[in-house]
Amino acid sequence: MSVMEKFRSISPSEFFYRNKEIAGFANPARALYQSVRELIENALDATDAHGILPDISISIERDAQKVNVYRISVKDNGIGIPENYIPDAFGRVLFSSKYVLRQTRGLFGLGAKMVILYGQITVGEPAEIISATINSKKVYMYKLQIDIKENKPIVIEKASWPNKTGWHGTMVRVAIEGDWGKSKQKVLEYVRRTAIVTPYANIVLKTPDEEIKVYHRVTDKMPPPPREAKPHPHGIDMEMLKTMISETKMQTLVEFLAEEFQGVGRVIAERFIQTYGFDPNVNPKTLSKEALEKLVKALKEFNEFRKPRSEHLSPIGAELIRIGLSAILRPEFVDAVTRKPVVYEGHAIVVEVGIAYGGAIELLEEPLLLRFANKIPLLYDEKSDVAWKVVSENIDWNYYNIAFPAPIAILVHICGTKIPYKGLGKESIADVPIIEREIEEGVRAIARSLKLYIMRKQKEEETMRKAITIIKYIPEVVNAMAVFARSNPEPIDRNLLELKLFELIKARFGDTLKNISSPRDVVMPIE
Ligand code: ADP
Ligand code: MG
Repeated sequence: MSVMEKFRSISPSEFFYRNKEIAGFANPARALYQSVRELIENALDATDAHGILPDISISIERDAQKVNVYRISVKDNGIGIPENYIPDAFGRVLFSSKYVLRQTRGLFGLGAKMVILYGQITVGEPAEIISATINSKKVYMYKLQIDIKENKPIVIEKASWPNKTGWHGTMVRVAIEGDWGKSKQKVLEYVRRTAIVTPYANIVLKTPDEEIKVYHRVTDKMPPPPREAKPHPHGIDMEMLKTMISETKMQTLVEFLAEEFQGVGRVIAERFIQTYGFDPNVNPKTLSKEALEKLVKALKEFNEFRKPRSEHLSPIGAELIRIGLSAILRPEFVDAVTRKPVVYEGHAIVVEVGIAYGGAIELLEEPLLLRFANKIPLLYDEKSDVAWKVVSENIDWNYYNIAFPAPIAILVHICGTKIPYKGLGKESIADVPIIEREIEEGVRAIARSLKLYIMRKQKEEETMRKAITIIKYIPEVVNAMAVFARSNPEPIDRNLLELKLFELIKARFGDTLKNISSPRDVVMPIE
């Protein structure tokens, strides 16, 4: 007897419906966290990446009747979505405006749809999207669900009304099954860390506990928006090359190379072609499979292309990192550095490091590590991240005069169009030597400036202690002088004498005593 297997294919929606955990929706707690995260990331991509100072409000409400049901809404003042794209942007998995070589938070064309899909499976209410593009005369509203088998939107209701206030932006509302108790800490921390790297945003979060967290914009400065880039030859593969060839308008190989890639000009293209013996005038669309394979291999190997550039990246910048860390952590010391771009598999990567120390930061047994990839806070899998390896193994903190427990927070931001995440959750970065080195160099540079700060402070404290010890003796000295002076017909003014001696000592020890205004302030031993 023969068994007949049944074959069929499934749609992308169905795939993610069956494999929710891949996209970060493993259980109600994780799903609530991930939903908030995806919607905030879309809101930020629609604002700061287009030069708009973000105003974002997030609300998470508990359903009055149904247990474990939450209504999440996220509203932004971004570029909005053209009306005809709204259904697909929210109802077709793997539909995105971000499939270009430019640094964004979203990349998969999945986030918003996963939130809607998850809500649909667990609660069953349609998602509501309200949006207006810049200068749109109307505001559009859609209520929709996803046809999982067909991977397409089902529009349940739509409406539009005049845009009287000239609003632009997007609001998304979904009901999902969640677990606020178990996700609360992560959600709050996610928003707080987002606020650290977007000090130019207003972010308001309303929680199911009726708490309202407000992060005010503390600067109008924003990182320059990322620009779209052409691929670098070292970063391509066969499929990409085929797609590029099918889309190009160039008629010859030499023009194709010089026009469609970064790091390749006419001269370099000609040298490349000569080195590998290609025909410069062949139409790339006519190349055989063997010729294409040879071309991919040669493009990856030739080392005279210019280095990948980084205009399509949008680092936060040292100044904004300092502003963000200061505003949220209120430290006494803060410094940051943006490293020069390096190359990883044909893509430019920029690493940024910031350190905040002292002030309102609490004493911790190990460094507080704040990890970010393309401005997204990474909260899970910390111990398997290369940044953790650097701060916990590679760096000897004693060398920088830091002994734990210490009040220190270290921010590590990696941005690039190709980031070596570990695993599908995109929550930690793999041990790639070049990235490890960049993080380490960055941490060392800032730790050196922290060390200088700590040494200066220790010296000041030392001086202060010395000065105070001397000041403490002033009243006694004055008494002794009074004894000597008894033979003198003029009685001495003890207060005046005390004051004079005190002024002398203050002048000698300078700034360190600025908080002490009279010898009386230090009569109590300070130890
Ligand atoms: P991704 O962010 O990876 O592209 P999403 O499913 O999260 O995938 O979003 C799909 C697309 O919908 C985005 O590429 C973007 O064009 C559009 N979009 C989603 N949310 C917003 C928003 N708040 N403002 C403007 N456009 C948005
Ligand atoms: Mg997204």
